[in-house]
Amino acid sequence: MKAVRIHEHGGIDKLRYEEVKPPWLTSPTEAIVQLKAAALNRIDILNREGVTGIEVPLPHILGADGAGIVLETGAEVRNVQKGDPVCLHTPSGCGRCEFCATDRDYMCLRIRALGERLEGTYAEFVKVPAANCFHIPPGLSFEEAAAFPLVFVTVWRMLITNAQLKPGEHVLILGIGGGVATAALQVAKQLGAHVIVTSSSDEKLELARNWGADHGFNYKKKDYTPDVRALTGKRGVDVVVDCVGGESFGKSLAALAKGGRLVTCGATAGACAELDLRRVFWNQLKIFGSTLGSREEFRQVLAFLRTSGIRPIIDEIFPLKEAAAAQRRLEEGKQFGKIVLQIMD
Ligand SMILES: [Zn+2]
Repeated sequence: MKAVRIHEHGGIDKLRYEEVKPPWLTSPTEAIVQLKAAALNRIDILNREGVTGIEVPLPHILGADGAGIVLETGAEVRNVQKGDPVCLHTPSGCGRCEFCATDRDYMCLRIRALGERLEGTYAEFVKVPAANCFHIPPGLSFEEAAAFPLVFVTVWRMLITNAQLKPGEHVLILGIGGGVATAALQVAKQLGAHVIVTSSSDEKLELARNWGADHGFNYKKKDYTPDVRALTGKRGVDVVVDCVGGESFGKSLAALAKGGRLVTCGATAGACAELDLRRVFWNQLKIFGSTLGSREEFRQVLAFLRTSGIRPIIDEIFPLKEAAAAQRRLEEGKQFGKIVLQIMD
């Protein structure tokens, strides 16, 4: 089969489109999926660079998101069968620890995620635990079905499980354009929240308005904190989605109303932040960190997509062999929505 692999860690030049031996079943609970599309995530870049702290076997196929058709299933697989169109839930745990026993595989110390400890989706075929295969919501293309799983389950856990976002609440989403931020915009608007976004690009702010954002501020031009205060009658917002981190983190806390919640799943601008701790306790703030989500949360996302009719925002589709160009677009932060790889037969 054709796949995009790395033989060593490093820059985009390490990606190789090449012929690879296809995967085969090694357990009765696995499935082989013929992939039609894969989607890019920032974690792909971190895994390529080798900076996550998780050792991946080399050579290695990247890619945490994918959708395709079930080709083969192990003898004990009951949830899907050959020919089913499926999308893939990324994490799977050891199945034995306290976290796995309570559907929290995303906290398993031996977590196996696609494109990390498991071979990924930049390929014509992938082997997955069958429990991570889910039927594609009706009406979604393979490209859309590959684009939503990782970011939507992450956003669902942040906004619904952790922040418990309510209709009518004010949400501030930093750095609109990335997959998580655009999914957060879609979920928050569908829920009836009032959404404020920030970006360094006026073009992205305009796109966000087209997708339902109520207000947008260019943080490069001026400090948005006073504007956010003014928009909320000096009260502040109920929820901040901050996957940017760095210097903006303190500002995010300052933008929150009393009792506000901050959710974070990334730190693209810097892992260390300076913050005034007094603000946290004086204002009764809650800070939730999370990555990924549970199978139950993934089921909730699928139900949400089915009933709302929402489709993930796709920025651009590249053929599999142009994975390097696709990753470059992601690295340069040019995208609005998800970057997808199309995988032909
Ligand atoms: Zn476990």
